[in-house]
Amino acid sequence: MTISEIPFKITEKINQLKSTLQSASYAYYVLDNPIMEDPIYDQLYRELQELENEYPSLITLDSPTQRVGDKLNSQLDSVKHNIPLYSLENAFNFSELKQWETRWQKQLKNIAEFNYICELKIDGSAIALTYENGIFIRGLTRGDGVTGEDITHNLRTIRSIPLKLNIENPPPIIEVRGEAFLPLQEFNRINEEREKNGESLFANPRNATAGTLRQLDPNIVSQRKLQFFAYNLYIFSENYNINTQEESLIFLQESGFLVNVNYQVFQNLDQIKEYLDNWEIERKNLPYMTDGVVVKINQFSLQTALGFTQKFPRWAIAVKYPAQEVTTTVENITVNVGRTGAITPMAIMKPVQLAGTTVQKATLHNSDRVQELDIRVGDTVIIRKAGEIIPEVVEVIKKLRPSNTQPYQMPSHCPECGSKLLRPENEAVTRCVNSSCPAILRGSLIHWASREAMDIRGLGEKVVISLMEYKLVKSIADIYKLQSFQIADLERMGEKSAQKLIRAIEDSKKQPFNRVLYGLGIRYVGATNAQILAENFVNIDNLIKAKKEDLEAVYGIGIEIASSVVEWFKLHENIILIEELRSLNINLEATNNNQKSGQLTNKILVLTGTLPTLKRSEAQKIIESAGGKVNSSISAKVDYVVAGEDAGSKLEKAQKLQLKIITESELLRLLMS
Ligand code: NAD
Repeated sequence: MTISEIPFKITEKINQLKSTLQSASYAYYVLDNPIMEDPIYDQLYRELQELENEYPSLITLDSPTQRVGDKLNSQLDSVKHNIPLYSLENAFNFSELKQWETRWQKQLKNIAEFNYICELKIDGSAIALTYENGIFIRGLTRGDGVTGEDITHNLRTIRSIPLKLNIENPPPIIEVRGEAFLPLQEFNRINEEREKNGESLFANPRNATAGTLRQLDPNIVSQRKLQFFAYNLYIFSENYNINTQEESLIFLQESGFLVNVNYQVFQNLDQIKEYLDNWEIERKNLPYMTDGVVVKINQFSLQTALGFTQKFPRWAIAVKYPAQEVTTTVENITVNVGRTGAITPMAIMKPVQLAGTTVQKATLHNSDRVQELDIRVGDTVIIRKAGEIIPEVVEVIKKLRPSNTQPYQMPSHCPECGSKLLRPENEAVTRCVNSSCPAILRGSLIHWASREAMDIRGLGEKVVISLMEYKLVKSIADIYKLQSFQIADLERMGEKSAQKLIRAIEDSKKQPFNRVLYGLGIRYVGATNAQILAENFVNIDNLIKAKKEDLEAVYGIGIEIASSVVEWFKLHENIILIEELRSLNINLEATNNNQKSGQLTNKILVLTGTLPTLKRSEAQKIIESAGGKVNSSISAKVDYVVAGEDAGSKLEKAQKLQLKIITESELLRLLMS
């Protein structure tokens, strides 16, 4: 295909990607001040690479895919490397690692015995050190891969770089390569100091390392305690019996270098899987940053036979950890009508892997957010998981927007029932207020049957939609009037599943009152509030009679919840529903089991950060079943703050308020007391 035959949208995308990646590279390599997260850069880079593979005539020499690193710092001397310093090819999952193996094995005719060596991929800056007769004479940054910057003066201040090799009869010339890095503790200390001095903070340890190495004043460098892990050795003379990467690591260690001891040799890729899985978790406990694992063919003879591409060695690959944020493109924007009539705009996207699952939909929250993002069909967006389940759109990469896109207009009418949508004053949410809107009924039925409410297994979204389509249910109470043969007639059902569902519906009558209350879907009455209401009002009649003040007087029930409960029971149709449920023997009264009391009765807790073993939802459940309440924000009312790893501003606020801060194991001990 000639350039003129390539569709405009492809050339436009390639040019946009090149320019976005070039700006990001400049910010990253030259300014040491990145403008995007690494995984986002990697993904856009991969997209450009794939397009260039498909349309090779569009590859230009200045494309980010054709170069290693970026421009050099003009204030430092440039020196040509003895051997170019390459980058590494990336694999983002195990199957890409397998593809790499197939590729390199295809290239060789006879493969002698081989094994792999895995090393942690240290997230710092690559540097090359030259030793003449055992004496350190020069150190260079990677630079653009061919030429590096001379930073010898700075490298001399790093304690883990020996100035003289610790071996007798050293080879006349050797080159040692490895990663200079800042231990996390040191990185935090430097940033704290910069904050105190009103200086801008380093975005991450890798950029802080690169910035430090290129300082002109070695005094500043020596104050920042950089470290160096050696991982590559070139001996420019014969007679040294080093034939594998493993042997060279041992040699480096014996010569006085710091070598990362977590390397391991494996016979095949399947064995490596466990190492990858293990380090994906364990890396969080390391005192320095890693961003993956480097898998290398151990034998130098094979490495030599495979050689290099323009950018990478063919005998090594970096396996990167799954990203928490990814990019994808928006294929459509729709709105979802929830069970309370709330309208949630959603982006429908090209399916993408995010933190272990394939996602295709992301929430845009509300119309204000849609406007703020100015999201359009065709846009490239960054998404991440919000909380634990629903992904959200974090950012629109405007530089990658195709021409001729249109701003998105929120609908003025409900897509399900056609009623005019309303946005109550002072609320961010637009609503359908037609109580007979099918979307509201559908949402209420799904919520009633959900696991945390009546737990009717088999009554999921699809069955609910079919039941509504055949007009078999028009309210929650109708679920209990269903006959087995009616369900069996539905698509994909049949006798057996119908009987099972009927049994599950019948069993749900045994669910306690608090679950019934939660299942009713009263606004703001979540599982915890339903529990509190059930404990305090004991039965539905007391709750129907309760005034706003009575409700507000209950510990844990605020004004919003109290008003919402009163409003709900004011509606005649809701009272009819309650009477129907009563006649169907649904539990409308609390038993003693409902009255939860325990070690945390009346205690308010806040969870922050990642707990070592418990998921948020698990910790919440445990606390609530011991009578405690979990709040989402810090206030003086909070009794305990359970803090895990990476606890951020909540922890700081708790410390300021001098609240009691406990760990997960202290929480568990409290529960056992
Ligand atoms: P890379 O960091 O993905 O991998 C190559 C580097 O790994 C080597 O140069 C070496 O320094 C390092 N390494 C660490 N441990 C190693 C070991 N045990 N053995 C061998 N090498 C080891 O590639 P790169 O070319 O240095 O940089 C590209 C990366 O930089 C991209 O993946 C991207 O994430 C990041 N980047 C980010 C931005 C941004 O805007 N955020 C911009 C440009 C580049």
